[in-house]
Amino acid sequence: MLLGRAVEGCYVTGMNAGESDRDVAELAAMLQARQVELRALSDSARESRQPVELDQSKVGRLSRMDAMQDQAMAQEAERRRAGELQRIDAALERLKSGDYGYCVSCDEDIAPARLKLDPAVATCINCASRSRR
Ligand SMILES: [Zn+2]
Repeated sequence: MLLGRAVEGCYVTGMNAGESDRDVAELAAMLQARQVELRALSDSARESRQPVELDQSKVGRLSRMDAMQDQAMAQEAERRRAGELQRIDAALERLKSGDYGYCVSCDEDIAPARLKLDPAVATCINCASRSRR
């Protein structure tokens, strides 16, 4: 396997076109796979986000509170998924427009290792650490 070489990379001297194309294709595939996964998760969790059944004869008061808590958690998980899907959509848009791999904030290259860790990342490490409280 060429793993060692791929990990160390030759990014110091910049990527040649072929290598960069292949990397981008790989990252695009990762983004699309994650998108599919998130949508499937969201679909399968749809039921647990439904309003809590109010029929007291069916569920006791405590279990109704449990159910409401579960629903709140399901909604929070859905919010997180929606946020991630938005980031992925935006990344796929940047792929289409050719802006992918460049920081949306300062336009510098985003380190390839950073993109591999999170292909949907939109900012370089400098901008990300600046915006973090
Ligand atoms: Zn930046």
